[in-house]
Amino acid sequence: MSFDQLNLSPPLLQAIAEQGYTKPTPVQEQAIPVILSGRDILAGAQTGTGKTAGFALPILERLYSQPMPKKPHPIRVLVLTPTRELASQVLESFKTYGKHLPLFSDVVFGGVSIHAQIKRLQRGTDILVATPGRLLDLMQQKKVDLSHVQFFVLDEADRMLDMGFIRDIRKVITALPKQRQNLLFSATYSKEIKALSAQLLNDPTEVAVARENATADKITQSVYPIKQENKRELLSWLIGDGNWQQVLVFARTKHGADRLCKQLMRDGIRCAALHGNKSQNARNRALGDFKDNKITALIATDIAARGLDIDQLPHVVNFDLPAVAEDYVHRIGRTGRAGAEGEAISLVTPEEGHLLGAIEKLLGRQILRVADTGYETVELNLSKSSKPKSKPNNQRNRRRKTSSNGNKRHLATSSERQAQSRGNRR
Ligand code: AMP
Repeated sequence: MSFDQLNLSPPLLQAIAEQGYTKPTPVQEQAIPVILSGRDILAGAQTGTGKTAGFALPILERLYSQPMPKKPHPIRVLVLTPTRELASQVLESFKTYGKHLPLFSDVVFGGVSIHAQIKRLQRGTDILVATPGRLLDLMQQKKVDLSHVQFFVLDEADRMLDMGFIRDIRKVITALPKQRQNLLFSATYSKEIKALSAQLLNDPTEVAVARENATADKITQSVYPIKQENKRELLSWLIGDGNWQQVLVFARTKHGADRLCKQLMRDGIRCAALHGNKSQNARNRALGDFKDNKITALIATDIAARGLDIDQLPHVVNFDLPAVAEDYVHRIGRTGRAGAEGEAISLVTPEEGHLLGAIEKLLGRQILRVADTGYETVELNLSKSSKPKSKPNNQRNRRRKTSSNGNKRHLATSSERQAQSRGNRR
C-alpha cells in the first residue's frame, strides 16, 4: 500500500514525502482509515512502529477538512503522554506532518515555568500535547479550555497507568465534551488498560501490530554473560572496538546512570546521563547533543527514555536488565526502527539470570549468548537469581586493557585479539 491510497490531502502527502517515507507502516495502514472514518480506536503499538504518524496524520486531515476557526483557535485535539520527552516528540511530529497546513500546535508539561505556557495558550492552538500533571494544574487555574476538544488521544496509555496517572486522566476526561473521538495507544493490554478502554472508548476498532515488530528481524540481539565488576570495561571496549558513534545505554537507577557516565568519560567516551533528577534544560541538552552526535553514549533510566525517538539508532545496550520483561521490548525498540538495522546487547550477571529468563519467556525464544566475552565465563541460571559462579578456565583474571582515550583498545593476548576480530566481524 502507498500513502496515496490513504485519502490524505496533498499538503500532508507533501510533508510525508519530505520526510522520506515511501510507504505506511503496518500500524499506519490499519489506523489511518479507521481514524479518518471517525471511529474510536484501541491500538496495540509501541514506540518505533510509526504509531505517532498513525494518529497525527488522520487527525491533521480531519482538522484540515473542517472550516478554519476564528483566531484564537480553540483546542480541538488533546494528546496526553506520560513523559515530557514523549510530549515534545509528539508535538514535533504534528509540526512536521502539519507544516504545510494553517494549524497551530503546542505542548505543556511540568518542570518548566507555567507562566510562559499560559501566555502561549492564550494565543490559541488547534492541537495541545500535554502530560497529565501540568494539564491539571492549568485546568485548576482555569487557563486552558477543553470544551472544544473533538479528538482525545492517550499515547502510551499503559505507561501512564504504570506511572499512577489514572486519577489525573479521569479528571481530564470529565472536562472534555461528551461528543468526541477517542484514540487509545498502548504497547501492552493489561487488565487496567482493558478497564480504561471499556470506560473511555465507544465501540472501538481494535488495531494490533504483532509483537514480533518490536523485536524485528532487523535487530540483532545478544547476551554477554558477565560479572558486574567487568561490565563497564566491556562496555567501553565494545564502544571503542566497534567505533560506535551513537549508543543508548540503559541503567537501572539514576545513581547508576550518573556513575557509569562518569566512568565512561574517564575512558574517553563522550556521554551524558538522562534521568528524572535532571532539570528539563539538562535533559533537552543531553538529548540534543546525542541527536547531533556531539556525544557518543546516552545513559538513561527507563522512565527518562520513554518515548525517545532518535532516528536510526544503531546500538542499544542493557547495562542492567530491566526488572519488568516488557521494558526489554520497549528498550530495544529504540533501535532498528522503521527499516533501519540495529543491534541490542545485554550485559547480564548471574544475579540477573531470572530477569533474562522472564524476557526470553516473553519473547518465546532464546537470545544468542556470546560465548567468549573476553572475561571470566559465568553461568546464568534463568529460573532464579543466583550467586555468581565462575568457571575456572584459561581466561581467568585476564582483563582487556583499555587505553586512556577509550577508542583504541590494546588487547593482552592473542586469543583476545581473535576475540576482537570476531567482534569486528559481528
Ligand atoms: P513512532 O513509533 O511514532 O515513535 O515512530 C518511529 C519512527 O519511525 C520515527 O522516527 C518516524 O519518523 C519514523 N516513521 C514513521 N512513519 C514512517 C514511515 N511510514 N516510513 C518510514 N519511517 C517512518
